[in-house]
Amino acid sequence: MQTLIPAHIIVGPETIVYAHVEQFLQKKFCRDATTQPTCFCTQCRKIKARQHHAIVWICPEKAYTVEDVDIIFERTALALNENEECFFILDKTQTLTSATANRLLKVLEEPPRGYQFILLTNNIDALLPTIVSRCMITSLAGNQETEQGNPLLAYFSLEHNFRDPFAFEQELKKQHLSDTQSLELLHQLISTIMTRYKKTHQEQQFEHYTKEILDFVLVQAKTPPQSGSSELFWKNLYLSWPQRK
Ligand SMILES: [Zn+2]
Repeated sequence: MQTLIPAHIIVGPETIVYAHVEQFLQKKFCRDATTQPTCFCTQCRKIKARQHHAIVWICPEKAYTVEDVDIIFERTALALNENEECFFILDKTQTLTSATANRLLKVLEEPPRGYQFILLTNNIDALLPTIVSRCMITSLAGNQETEQGNPLLAYFSLEHNFRDPFAFEQELKKQHLSDTQSLELLHQLISTIMTRYKKTHQEQQFEHYTKEILDFVLVQAKTPPQSGSSELFWKNLYLSWPQRK
């Protein structure tokens, strides 16, 4: 079976991401028609033990090295039969180096028939834009508070697509930020964007959009929220956030 977009990125807190991937793979390989997350058949047990023959988990101990992804090229050198599938799960892709990422670009874009890639990360802004643009993104918000700071920041991610202004407003109301908290949050936002900007620069993946966002936020920060206007400040920021062209 051939899917239209073979490469996926799944973003979210680690535990939620793992659970999501396992269930997805169970649905693929479990022979029980009513696959439950708790199924204990041979296929499901192998998936959970990461020993399934058609699934290759790549989980580097620190940052990715070029050798960590060698297995992808060894495996994909073999053609699959028409009804066979093979999945590569790349864990912790926020630690992909530019050398490794560049090595992956072509295979992510045009994988041989039957091979599929699922990239896991807790921070999509740490991935190179060249990788992100080749993949379909699934964002599992979960409880981002624990791993990525204030959930409001998720609405200002660089991959943000303005899908849910209502949810944004609810979150803003719920948090009832004081002016000091607002300022702290604004500084966190600036530092996240700054990091992305520096990273794309260092890795010579300079991206115009990141620069645009950075300039935009720095201009907005010149008139920070003042007494009692913090909600209005965040609403304006949300509404005038530059869209990726
Ligand atoms: Zn099963």
